[in-house]
Amino acid sequence: MSRDIMNFIDGTYVRNASGRTFPKRTPIDNALIGTVFEAGKPEVDAAVGAAKAALKGPWGKLSVVERVKLLDEVAVEINRRFDDFLQAEIADTGKPSHLASHVDIPRGAANFQIFADTIKNMSTEAFEMRTPDGKTALSYGVRVPRGVIAVVCPWNLPLLLMTWKVGPALACGNTVVVKPSEETPSTATLLGEVMNKVGVPAGVYNVVHGFGPDSAGAFLTAHPDVDGITFTGETRTGTAIMQAAAVGIRPVSLELGGKNAAVVFADCDFQVAVDTVTRSCFENAGQVCLGTERVYVQRPIFEAFVAALKQKAEAMKPGRPFDPDTRIGPLISKEHQDKVLSYYRKAREEGATVVTGGGVPTMPDDLKDGCWVQPTIWTGLPETAAVVTEEVFGPCCHISPFDSEDEVLEKVNRNRYGLATSIYTQDISRANRLARQIEVGLCWINSWFLRDLRTPFGGSKQSGIGREGGVHSFEFYTELRNVMLKY
Ligand code: NAD
Repeated sequence: MSRDIMNFIDGTYVRNASGRTFPKRTPIDNALIGTVFEAGKPEVDAAVGAAKAALKGPWGKLSVVERVKLLDEVAVEINRRFDDFLQAEIADTGKPSHLASHVDIPRGAANFQIFADTIKNMSTEAFEMRTPDGKTALSYGVRVPRGVIAVVCPWNLPLLLMTWKVGPALACGNTVVVKPSEETPSTATLLGEVMNKVGVPAGVYNVVHGFGPDSAGAFLTAHPDVDGITFTGETRTGTAIMQAAAVGIRPVSLELGGKNAAVVFADCDFQVAVDTVTRSCFENAGQVCLGTERVYVQRPIFEAFVAALKQKAEAMKPGRPFDPDTRIGPLISKEHQDKVLSYYRKAREEGATVVTGGGVPTMPDDLKDGCWVQPTIWTGLPETAAVVTEEVFGPCCHISPFDSEDEVLEKVNRNRYGLATSIYTQDISRANRLARQIEVGLCWINSWFLRDLRTPFGGSKQSGIGREGGVHSFEFYTELRNVMLKY
């Protein structure tokens, strides 16, 4: 069933002045599920205007305790409408329901709760000093909201990644204009109903739909009344966002692409390493920014590891999201399927040994039009090959053998990205030594995607700028003002 997906501006669902729409199709079978009303300049202006006005309205006058109470209610309401969010997220992405119901939707709610809790206990610094005339000067910090925050989001974990920004932005007293990905407009839209239900004032949370260049994304990030831009997406888009932010010297927080490595030493717990690397390569059909696409395995266990991962990959049954046997969903779109398949071809052209996969799985007739690709493993490529250096963002990995710690360290760091790594070993000294030297923002030891939301999250090198999570989010979402009192 297809429905209208509208912009949410100043507490109201609105279409647009231009009449421009675009179709939202589900990647499961390419069926039309929604008509999205694209925001033009007038709608983006209205959303930013509403967000700016709301800073001066009742929202701006709330105490922290009152704000925290509202955010807690947002989390409760998301959980109360869990099934609505689940259905919307699954329709947009096609991901298996066990994944969306364990990761996407609960984290969507938790992102409001955790930042509500964190802001309650947030302190600032104070210093006292003597002045030359024998008096005292007391300096103290005050955190004030930055203002209107533009939140530009990707499609891979739509509700989770959007609320990861909206939660702390609102906790700090800002207002937001969200531009969800054109591929996943539904849960951001639904969140508007939650905001209205719990009494978040109109204009605090706004959603504009559309694309990037010459569309809502570019109009929003170029808007002079936007005071900060938080962006998650591709590194190339991050460059465009930084250029837009340079006008008016607006701060950015960027969570960008990755080409993450897993390093598996011969002394690892073999089963833990195989199970965890299976998840890090293939979960969400490989469409996780933290996912692994380069696996380095120490030579004594190389053959055994490749064989075990192959078996796991081949057991990942593609299918409908609510089928309990489904282990892997489709890619997000035909366009992305074409991109991933072009890398599958390139790997073969560059001489890869295709251990498993490499194409499109055979699907039943009713799913044939979906955006399916096979989980794929390659070996035998040099470190310079395209699928070893570039982000594919699909269910695939290249596995290479290594001998020494120094050799693997050099290979892992030889990449322009620096988002995440996982290391598998029983030698904790070695793991800690490597964790300090690998050039990434996030390093897991004997695990992956294990998150404590109080900890800093973000990338090094071309994987991003800034850290969000816990108190670190407040560096971006507030201005720290110093007040000095002489007495
Ligand atoms: P994308 O960069 O194509 O799009 C992200 C968003 O930016 C979309 O809403 C899009 O419409 C918008 N956009 C595109 N061009 C724009 C422009 N010129 N101005 C303003 N907005 C613009 O990314 P995607 O394909 O949606 O997501 C996949 C990418 O996101 C991958 O590279 C992945 O690694 C990355 N990602 C990173 C993290 C992280 O935390 N580091 C998390 C998730 C995804």
